[in-house]
Amino acid sequence: MPQIRILPPVLRNKIAAGEVIERPASVVKELIENSLDAGSTDIRVEVLNGGKHLIKVSDNGNGMDKEDALICFERYATSKLLKEEDLSHIRTKGFRGEALAAITSVAKVKIVTAPKSNYQGVSLEIEGGEVKSVKDSPTVGTTVEVRALFFNTPARKKFLKAHNTELFHIIDKITEQAIAHHEIGFSLVSDNREVIRIPVASSPRERVMQIYGDEFLEGLIEINKEAADILMNCFVSKEMNFRNSKTYQFIFINKRPIRDSSLTHAIYKAYEGILPQKKHPIFFLFLAIDPGVIDVNVHPTKREVRFENKEPIYKFVLSGIREILQHSQHPKPTDFPSTSVVSERLELEYKPSLSFMPIGDAFIALSGREGLILIDQHAAHERILYERFLRGVDLDSRRFLFPKQVQLSHKEYHVILANGSILKDFGIEVEDFGHNTVVVRSLPETLTGADIRGILADIASRLLEGIAPDGELRETLAAKIACHRSVRGKIILKQEEADQLLFDLEKCTVPDSCPHGRPTKISLSLEDLKKMFKRT
Ligand code: ADP
Ligand code: MG
Repeated sequence: MPQIRILPPVLRNKIAAGEVIERPASVVKELIENSLDAGSTDIRVEVLNGGKHLIKVSDNGNGMDKEDALICFERYATSKLLKEEDLSHIRTKGFRGEALAAITSVAKVKIVTAPKSNYQGVSLEIEGGEVKSVKDSPTVGTTVEVRALFFNTPARKKFLKAHNTELFHIIDKITEQAIAHHEIGFSLVSDNREVIRIPVASSPRERVMQIYGDEFLEGLIEINKEAADILMNCFVSKEMNFRNSKTYQFIFINKRPIRDSSLTHAIYKAYEGILPQKKHPIFFLFLAIDPGVIDVNVHPTKREVRFENKEPIYKFVLSGIREILQHSQHPKPTDFPSTSVVSERLELEYKPSLSFMPIGDAFIALSGREGLILIDQHAAHERILYERFLRGVDLDSRRFLFPKQVQLSHKEYHVILANGSILKDFGIEVEDFGHNTVVVRSLPETLTGADIRGILADIASRLLEGIAPDGELRETLAAKIACHRSVRGKIILKQEEADQLLFDLEKCTVPDSCPHGRPTKISLSLEDLKKMFKRT
């Protein structure tokens, strides 16, 4: 009695679907990629209930005739590979002929499509991999409707997250494709509300601006570099414009969003010596490389790319960014209200009557009767603000006469508005202004002049990581806000400011470390000093 059987096609497709279709966002990604490959210039996505009830992607691309439509959802059905050699020169997003097979095997799907030549279209319904109905239906482009995702794979369905979480994943996928394809218009309607509307842009620069706003773009430098077989266009953090998370990091190879630890490393390396600990640069890296020297057939969802020879590409990216960063370095502008100018610095350092002394531009030294104390002024200030925020003091909100408009990314916008009441606890009052923009009506006094966009983005990323119990969330937010507002290193404090800083620090419950656990002060007692000078 043989033990081995060849699995029937429906089951094969279900198994394959496990690799390609993990959640509603995977369906959105695959359908958008098909629309891109079909030469569309306008791609519209509509979802209900985070895509769990409905995902509908409509395009104005080349479409299919009836014959093609009836076969497109079979496994290995593709128009993108004709012969074996093509596999080593892939220029399309798809080529494996498995997405529609996978989707139709785990959902109820309707495809309405017509070829551009005559618009004589067809409408077909497929359920669990089987055609249920075929009708003639004139149309333009292609619309794929996916309902009841995972209706026949309950195990998978169980892993779906809350409506909003799935929606955020969908927003991520659309945002990523929109950044990769500035020449294409995208929109997303979720539960009958328009969430994304991005018209065709003239350049990647304009696209980044459409999605993240002018202010965000101002913090980036554009770098273009060309070599024989590679082209780089990227937007990266200007000096000091760093983030607490890796939210804004994108790599595209031939317009395909990918993850690549070695290219990411090349970018971090370019910031060596500039990037503070635990901070992350923003980057949008677009590389165009001859498809003959890369392999995109590595991963079922094509998240990764293999390079014939990685090293020259690594060096090309690293040196391209580093050269520009080194040329653009200039004295740090600062928004701290009352800083001394550099000429006063010498005076301060050499005045013997001063009770403190600036060490470089990040520390101050104090001579106590017991020895020497060194203070990290940024860490100290962070600690002070952190405790104030936690205690809720100094949160007298100031209402702006002219409320500030802040443009956020689609996802940030959503999560910030959904958590307005938490922000209010911190004295930050925001209102919806439409088009991914919120209006900041009031801010705590201490945050006047701070980078509000950065603060809101940080809060959003923390909220998106999953909301922790109340207390923990408060602490994290307090730390983030404190970090944004506190004296960044590289500032020479005036006497009154230093006095105030020391006074406030001593009043803190935990004066010895910043909210991230770094020390605020280091002291060397007379004993320590004697030992160091070998007097004992
Ligand atoms: P692949 O994209 O790897 O070829 P898919 O299963 O995603 O495999 O799609 C199968 C085929 O169906 C594609 O090769 C293409 O010819 C056709 N197709 C799918 N979506 C569209 C669309 N939106 N417009 C035109 N043709 C499409
Ligand atoms: Mg495809």
